[in-house]
Amino acid sequence: MDHSFSKQHNSFPNFPLAELHAHIGTSINPFVYWQIAHEQGYKVPKKTYHEFVEFITLSPEKKMKLNEYLRKIYHPVLDKLSSGTFALEKAMYETMGGAYRNNIAHIEIRGNIMKHNNNGDHDLDHIIMAMLRGMERAFLEYPNLSGGYIFCLDREYTVEKNAIMIEKAIKYKSRGVVAIDFAGPANEEFKLEDYKQLIIKAKKAGLAITTHSGEVDDANDMWEAIEFIKPKRIGHGIKAAYDKELMKQLVKQDVVLEVCPMSNLMTQAVENEEELKFILRTFIENKVKFTINTDWPEMIADAHLWRQFAMLRDKKIMSEEELIQCNKIAFASTFAPKGGLDAYL
Ligand SMILES: [Zn+2]
Repeated sequence: MDHSFSKQHNSFPNFPLAELHAHIGTSINPFVYWQIAHEQGYKVPKKTYHEFVEFITLSPEKKMKLNEYLRKIYHPVLDKLSSGTFALEKAMYETMGGAYRNNIAHIEIRGNIMKHNNNGDHDLDHIIMAMLRGMERAFLEYPNLSGGYIFCLDREYTVEKNAIMIEKAIKYKSRGVVAIDFAGPANEEFKLEDYKQLIIKAKKAGLAITTHSGEVDDANDMWEAIEFIKPKRIGHGIKAAYDKELMKQLVKQDVVLEVCPMSNLMTQAVENEEELKFILRTFIENKVKFTINTDWPEMIADAHLWRQFAMLRDKKIMSEEELIQCNKIAFASTFAPKGGLDAYL
């Protein structure tokens, strides 16, 4: 394998990439959303396609705090349009194929299945199977593509409600559900400690664990994660760069961080490129393992994975060798089996 960046194709890496952190809602190409909306007769918030794209996407000229984006766009527009069996099968198929055409050979997609069922109107098993059918279609079409699906639990849900999703993840493990994630804004009622037994059960069933932590506030939730659920990976985890003791623990317990550079810049979780550089250089100095991911490849302008690699190199935040190393770590720390469709048959 030629591990270098192509000179001809505008910094397109010559090597296949692995994406470990991408949410289905923000990974669906806007034209697919547009088609889904019109095929099902949904009202869309904007009259023309380009106005719609402008409305749902962030860019350096249009940044938005994470919670504001979730409240104004993500939940009312994206979740709604990507709900139901028709939308989800098409969304997964198009998203995984699109990733492959953009040089991704291995991809983990994640999402909260209860956010795609129109508040309970759709049956969860139908929802899950529709997604997995979409994934299987993409695997059939692109035999060199592999990956899996991660179920995101929600910090705003009760333990009982989240437990339903853990049971479903166990049930569909052999069909491509590979891990459990915790997501959603901080909530006083939510305590990771309450999930200790459920997580032990999920791990025994062969599911891996990750959690969105250390993204916006501080690193306290990372400490809790290490203590109560012992995840193999942590989503974001950027606040650890300000906590030496925590970095030591991450190295000791071999926890890999799923860093999402452009997402952090657009939602202002990271203030600017200087802070991003400080965080990533600190991780490299302290030997904290991390991977580069998109989080929202289609809802941020020019944010496909290869563009994030190129951006980090062009801004001299990381060297080509360091980026190649990150990609190797991603392949080594994936929760999904290699082998595409064959892995699940
Ligand atoms: Zn995320």
